[in-house]
Amino acid sequence: MHEMSLADGVLQVIEDNAKINGYSRVRKVWLEIGELAGVEVEAMRFCFDSVVKGTLADGARLEIIVTQGEGHCFGCGKTVPIQLRYDPCPLCGGYPVEPTGGLEMRVKELEVE
Ligand SMILES: [Zn+2]
Repeated sequence: MHEMSLADGVLQVIEDNAKINGYSRVRKVWLEIGELAGVEVEAMRFCFDSVVKGTLADGARLEIIVTQGEGHCFGCGKTVPIQLRYDPCPLCGGYPVEPTGGLEMRVKELEVE
């Protein structure tokens, strides 16, 4: 389950931020996950809850925002919405569609005290 190391990465971002901005508790975390990032949302929730135990984000609520996947179709040359990395183009049915958006996961916002 690679979500565990991703959750560790999220905690790292939170801790680095805490050092820079001088806060000691995190109440809520908004996490943006691209549809094509290959992250299981439910697995992510589970891993997040487990890695933050005993840290400044212990008990923090995780809000997940899923951003739409997008790709460039070599068939028709358009930018199209795709849900999976290997989806054909919804406009022309062509392959390949090169993923261009919704590939990342990032911490968007934190509610802290
Ligand atoms: Zn197309």
